[in-house]
Amino acid sequence: MAGRNAKIAVDMRNWSDESRRSMAAEFAGPVYVDQALSCRRCDREFVFSAQRQKEIFEVRKAYIWQRPVLCPQCWPLRLQWVTELKSLRARWSSQRAVMKRDVEALWRWRRVLDELTACGLRRDKAQIAMLDKLLIRAAADSDDSGLTKSSV
Ligand SMILES: [Zn+2]
Repeated sequence: MAGRNAKIAVDMRNWSDESRRSMAAEFAGPVYVDQALSCRRCDREFVFSAQRQKEIFEVRKAYIWQRPVLCPQCWPLRLQWVTELKSLRARWSSQRAVMKRDVEALWRWRRVLDELTACGLRRDKAQIAMLDKLLIRAAADSDDSGLTKSSV
């Protein structure tokens, strides 16, 4: 791993076309230097290292103005929630009738959406409204044990 404040040469020939056409191409210095960023989710400061910038912009061809929004602790959580959201949605399309009464799964789904919003994803208002409606209905239909479960 590169040490702190490592300087890595910029090679603009490896940038994406979009990056090369941007203003950054005129103002870029000869080297990448470590940048301190703060995480959108937890506010912790993290380093976007010069080495990582070289990789992101020259190997993965990301647009030169892009910056990571999550720290290394939060990024894996986001991946985990995205996976969980996919499986909840898959379950929803195959077992809708059962899931409508599964208060625990509905709560979990609702929470995953909130977590992803905190990670910088656009808030899915339609889905949140749908879940809130289902949760209210499920709570009204359920017995005491269902209500206890939902509030944990
Ligand atoms: Zn974080």
